[in-house]
Amino acid sequence: MTTDRDLHAHLIGRQGSRADLNTPVLVLDVEALDRNIAAMAALAAQHGVALRPHAKTHKSVDIAMRQIGAGAAGVCCAKIGEAEVLAAGGVTGVLITSPVAAPAAIARLATLAGQTEGLMAVVDHPDVAARIDAALATNGATLDMIIDIDPGIARTGVASAAAAVALAQAIAALPNLCYRGVQYYCGSQQHIENYAERRAAIVERTAYLQEVIAALGDAGFAPEIVTGGGTGTHRIDLDLSILTELQTGSYVFMDKQYLDCDLTGDGEPPFETALGVDARVVSANHSGLVTIDAGFKSLSTDGGVAVVRRGAPESAFFAFMGDEHAALVAPGIGTAMQPGDPVSLTVPHCDPTVNLYDDYHVVAGDTLVDIWPVSARGRAR
Ligand code: PLP
Ligand code: MN
Repeated sequence: MTTDRDLHAHLIGRQGSRADLNTPVLVLDVEALDRNIAAMAALAAQHGVALRPHAKTHKSVDIAMRQIGAGAAGVCCAKIGEAEVLAAGGVTGVLITSPVAAPAAIARLATLAGQTEGLMAVVDHPDVAARIDAALATNGATLDMIIDIDPGIARTGVASAAAAVALAQAIAALPNLCYRGVQYYCGSQQHIENYAERRAAIVERTAYLQEVIAALGDAGFAPEIVTGGGTGTHRIDLDLSILTELQTGSYVFMDKQYLDCDLTGDGEPPFETALGVDARVVSANHSGLVTIDAGFKSLSTDGGVAVVRRGAPESAFFAFMGDEHAALVAPGIGTAMQPGDPVSLTVPHCDPTVNLYDDYHVVAGDTLVDIWPVSARGRAR
């Protein structure tokens, strides 16, 4: 079988080749990507904070290596499956940010701990800590542990300062675990669109984090690592100076959801849109709409709808039409556009959209320069 990679290999280096790609296709602007990576690295360095970008966003060995090359301490992974793939690709300094609880996943964590430099994992329950310790014992390995603290959303994490101290004590009593610090990720606050409201929410949540850190310190468990933060709150987190490392993920791509948030307080997006989906008109038989070849299987649906970036009026209204199709609706669009016309879209939510594709088609300007696998695509466990 001829693969996408074979088909596109001959296009590499040809001006204008982006327009020749079969669609729908996940397109990554490497110049914008590198500027985003450099901008976040510079911000973290200015504040004396480490950067461990979240790789759940891109699931890519190539992008993780670029982030580490720009100074990142490693990357975060959401699941053991992501960590395994990135580690196999040579990525070091991986922190697994979701509790690992399935017996099979704990066994894999213990195996990976014996093979990988700088691996860390979060935990939020003493029983799970004991199970991880036992699995490590059978492998003769040890693992650095981070206590996940619930910022009040009841998703994961210990639910009180007392529970954090009890868990630190439990970890300290287990021979194969090494307590390193805490994680605090305020997921509900990331997408508050108004900067002042987001800042007020994080100031309030950070006061609680300080209480937990103080209780840990009083018990002899002052955290060496305080990791957290996302693209939505990174400016505020840096300003409040509690985190020792940032876990920002989406900044590398900038999706529509984050373009709708005022990330800096001055309305200027500090990062560029590097990711998009290129689609194509496949039917144009009505004056007020055209049908394009990207539907539910090509764009995540949890974050609203895509917006037109290029190739059609930016005011065109996007409406999903099923698994494989969507409509672009605008007066006269069906006479202005022809079947085969390309259109570039900004994706609503980057992480779940990336997970729909095998590859990034990497462009510089309109030239296809590379194809990178979405290395950990589908590795949800
Ligand atoms: N840290 C954790 C634990 C997350 O779950 C996420 C995203 O969901 C991130 C960091 C990255 O956040 P963002 O994509 O908003 O930068
Ligand atoms: Mn996300």
